[in-house]
Amino acid sequence: MTATVTDQRAYNFSAGPAVLPVSVLEEVRDELVCLPGARSSLLEMSHRDKVFVDILHDAENSIRSLLNISDDYSVLFLQGGAALQFSMIPANLLRGTEKSAAYIQTGTWGKKAIAEAKKEGAVNIVYDAADSNFNHVPSAEDYSVPADSAYLYYCNNETIQGVQFPSEPVCPDSVPLICDASSDFMHRPLDISKYGMVYACAQKNAGPAGVTVVVIRKDLLEIGSASLPGYLQYKNHAEADSEWNTPPTFAIWVLGKVARWLTNDIGGLEAMEKLNREKAGLLYNAIDSSNGFYTGHAKPECRSLMNATFVLPNDDLQSKFLSEAADNGLVALKGHRSVGGIRASIYNAMPKEGAQALADFMTAFASKNG
Ligand SMILES: *Cc1c(COP(=O)(O)O)cnc(C)c1O
Repeated sequence: MTATVTDQRAYNFSAGPAVLPVSVLEEVRDELVCLPGARSSLLEMSHRDKVFVDILHDAENSIRSLLNISDDYSVLFLQGGAALQFSMIPANLLRGTEKSAAYIQTGTWGKKAIAEAKKEGAVNIVYDAADSNFNHVPSAEDYSVPADSAYLYYCNNETIQGVQFPSEPVCPDSVPLICDASSDFMHRPLDISKYGMVYACAQKNAGPAGVTVVVIRKDLLEIGSASLPGYLQYKNHAEADSEWNTPPTFAIWVLGKVARWLTNDIGGLEAMEKLNREKAGLLYNAIDSSNGFYTGHAKPECRSLMNATFVLPNDDLQSKFLSEAADNGLVALKGHRSVGGIRASIYNAMPKEGAQALADFMTAFASKNG
């Protein structure tokens, strides 16, 4: 048999943009030059063309049914990445109010969101894990949220530190809970009805760069002032069905295919969660059974199912680990510069074989070099 392009792929542990399902990539390749039946490429087509509008609605409907999202919520496809949401959220929900917005800070992305929110209004950091180098998330008794807060914001999975909330924070009923789910969107079932808003840039766990999914409760659409720049007002996007201006058509197309893959190939989010727990279990077990050769960054009770972060005894061993891993077809494992060490991102699309191969490599490397 001749080797295919697909055969050249390594197991890619990149934090983002990150691994996509091979079957989705192959489908995109096959349909890119001419979308079946459409006589042109999706890339060449008007976003108002019924063919694309159907693709957008299919993507929305797949996400709605995977997460069981009710009609009380709008699902929007926006640009500007997660970073624009750091500003759009307070611009719509905090600017011009007498309220303050509550933030839980458990890592780099939460910290950046807070910096942007401060430009829009009063920010109340109800919990800050900075002093412990962002190695944990708080438990319910560690913080309290004033009942008159504009909203409570948190990041469910801090991609850089590899800490993840095992369940959502406690939040008074009167306060909309807002979640940055960029690096763990659709990694397990989520009770959307507990949230005012959940958003995620796609390029970690859901698709290619260029689109950000915003799931927002419809009453919150009414708060943003019409004096905001048009693009920044959620209501405009909701009323225009994410076609207030040209949406990122390619990214939405691929996102829809990933959602369909989750539904048809994986079998839904419960099955996805089970697989994700197995994959993460392989890596954390390799850390825990290494007799201290590997040290995990996150406290065990809040270890991320998506990004496993750990260090080796010294920098030389770390470099050796990275280069030997690459020789073994395991790539993009270097940790973020602010944490150092190794970061293995094992998003939805990472097959279990990839996590197994890395775990086996880790165990062999530790016994040779420990
Ligand atoms: C990557 C990431 C972001 C930033 O995403 P951009 O699309 O680059 O703005 C924000 N939050 C989390 C949790 C992330 O992982």
